[in-house]
Amino acid sequence: MGLFGGRKTVFVDADILVIGGGMAGCGATYESRYWGRDLKIVCVEKANIERSGAVAQGLYAINCYMGMQWGENQPEDHVRYARNDLMGLVREDLGYDIARHVDSAVHKFEEWGLPIMRDPETGRYQREGKWQIMIHGESYKPIVAEAARKAASEVYNRIMVTHLLMDKSKANRVGGAVGFNVRTGDFYVFRAKAVIVAAGGASHIFKPRAVGEGMGRTWYAPWSSGSAYALPIQVGAKMTQMENRIVLTRFKDGYGPVGAYFLHLKTYTQNGYGEEYESKWYDHTKALVGDYIDRHPVPTCLRNHAFIEEMKAGRGPIRMVTKEAFQDPHKETVGWENFLGMTIGQAVVWASQNIDPKHINPELTTSEPYVMGSHATCSGAWASGPEDYAPAEYQWGYNRMMTVDGLFGAGDTIGGTAHKFSSGSFTEGRIAAKAAVKYVNDMGRDRPQVSEQEYQDLEKSIYQPMENYRVGRNEIVAGTVSPSYLLPIHGLQRLEKIMDEYVGGTSTNYMTNGVMLNRGLEMLAMLKEDMSHIGAEDLHQLQRTWELHHRLLASESVTHHTLFREETRWPGYYYRGDHMKLDDDKWHCFTLSRYDRNTGKWDMEKAPVYHIID
Ligand SMILES: Cc1cc2nc3c(=O)[nH]c(=O)nc-3n(C[C@H](O)[C@H](O)[C@H](O)COP(=O)(O)OP(=O)(O)OC[C@H]3O[C@@H](n4cnc5c(N)ncnc54)[C@H](O)[C@@H]3O)c2cc1C
Repeated sequence: MGLFGGRKTVFVDADILVIGGGMAGCGATYESRYWGRDLKIVCVEKANIERSGAVAQGLYAINCYMGMQWGENQPEDHVRYARNDLMGLVREDLGYDIARHVDSAVHKFEEWGLPIMRDPETGRYQREGKWQIMIHGESYKPIVAEAARKAASEVYNRIMVTHLLMDKSKANRVGGAVGFNVRTGDFYVFRAKAVIVAAGGASHIFKPRAVGEGMGRTWYAPWSSGSAYALPIQVGAKMTQMENRIVLTRFKDGYGPVGAYFLHLKTYTQNGYGEEYESKWYDHTKALVGDYIDRHPVPTCLRNHAFIEEMKAGRGPIRMVTKEAFQDPHKETVGWENFLGMTIGQAVVWASQNIDPKHINPELTTSEPYVMGSHATCSGAWASGPEDYAPAEYQWGYNRMMTVDGLFGAGDTIGGTAHKFSSGSFTEGRIAAKAAVKYVNDMGRDRPQVSEQEYQDLEKSIYQPMENYRVGRNEIVAGTVSPSYLLPIHGLQRLEKIMDEYVGGTSTNYMTNGVMLNRGLEMLAMLKEDMSHIGAEDLHQLQRTWELHHRLLASESVTHHTLFREETRWPGYYYRGDHMKLDDDKWHCFTLSRYDRNTGKWDMEKAPVYHIID
């Protein structure tokens, strides 16, 4: 009997299983109950939904709100905006679907107690920018979680989901999931008619800029471990745009947000010599991407591009000019409060570095890349679109269902739909849930059956790292080093280094090419071989092990997609040195991948981009 030989196996049956109780998961849980009054709705979360996910520490703005009640924007405007920002490539059907429903989700947040700032003159929500409204959002997540808690039949906190289960009679139909309780070690088998994956994006797949004592500090939540991608990839769901990683311009060392500074405080950037620099790179950028540089607003990646080039030219550091705005006491207050509601760490970093933005213009940096589907980026699963709006080629089933039957997704999980942010992710969760309820109701008596053999085999491999440790620790030398196993942290650092050096991380200034990507794939394959030798000292390390498995599979996907797209579509996010230009003739398309877990092979294909909105 191993270290956890006494663990229980807990079986949970559900109609709808929601994996991940972040913004999208809470939206999915809430809406499942609305449409499925008598259904058993179960939400499973590896942390605690009260404070989990990327919104855990609160937000200062809701970044996706149309304001249709005041005629501020229409859903079509948002599709145009997202399409422009993503250099032409978004799923317009999915984006439109979110935009037409997002306002009602925000109104619910307010009804549930979220304080939204109002413009004293107009009485409307206080705008930070064209799409953003300002909130007192420290408690944003607990407020949203309360609605999900009340709607769910059961919420299981502290369960790390490691694998999906498939129906034993229908090869391409999902039947549930397995995982383990990160506190008790109990093994969980969830059997469900439909599964909604809402497990967030991926940080820590590229080496972070913050190392040593700052290790763990990242822009996107450090616990975003790529499960949203790995779980569907493992069972053969198609992924899209996984190459479209995002790089953020943020305040240096604390990754503090810049949105409120640019949009509300009207601060601006300059190089180390106090000069405006973006316009200097206009011709250079135009040669790479053509007319996309003339679009308004300038796409996020292209603004990064000017920053990166200016740094490479030796004229850094790039600074945010705060000294002028901070002379206004109101703006100074807003500047600080922006961090207190969202990224307190940035205020602490400034204090520790003697930076008072009233007197010193703080430095900015470009972050390491992240993989996600809800920000100015759209990596994720390939999903069926809304019945009333999606082109025929984008419809093979229920709205937001992936290419696996009964498997739905929302938020960072779903690809092709950038700029949904917190409110759009919650909204997409609602959309997916409505469709999942319909799927369950249409199913009749033909419910999926999971194989006992399958989950018993999985149980064995899930806990194997603890057994590896139990046996291998007898050979420990130099404190923690054992010839028989590697620790999850070693595996993580190896992954981050491979991704950083071969797939376009910070150390190569986001540059890669076909040769480097192929070498990266070889290195990833070697890491994959070693994954069966991970030793986990305790349940915490067991969780780290499975997070690493998920990050690794997501990374493989990113690398294959980056290799497949032979152009530089998003300079400022990454560069293919062997294909430095945007190539609309060949690559105005989505990239799709499908992983075969039996052979370990990835199939790549192109899918057309349909422009539905003029
Ligand atoms: C620093 C920062 C600033 C941001 N600023 C804004 C802003 O100002 N305005 C705005 O609107 N949006 C903002 N966003 C974006 C917003 O947070 C995301 O768009 C949104 O949270 C995505 O929702 P999601 O449900 O897909 O992921 P999340 O909210 O991250 O939820 C994912 C959930 O899945 C859980 N999970 C992951 N893996 C597993 C697993 N294997 N098993 C079980 N559970 C799992 C996680 O613990 C988490 O609870 C910001 C994000 C960050 C990180």
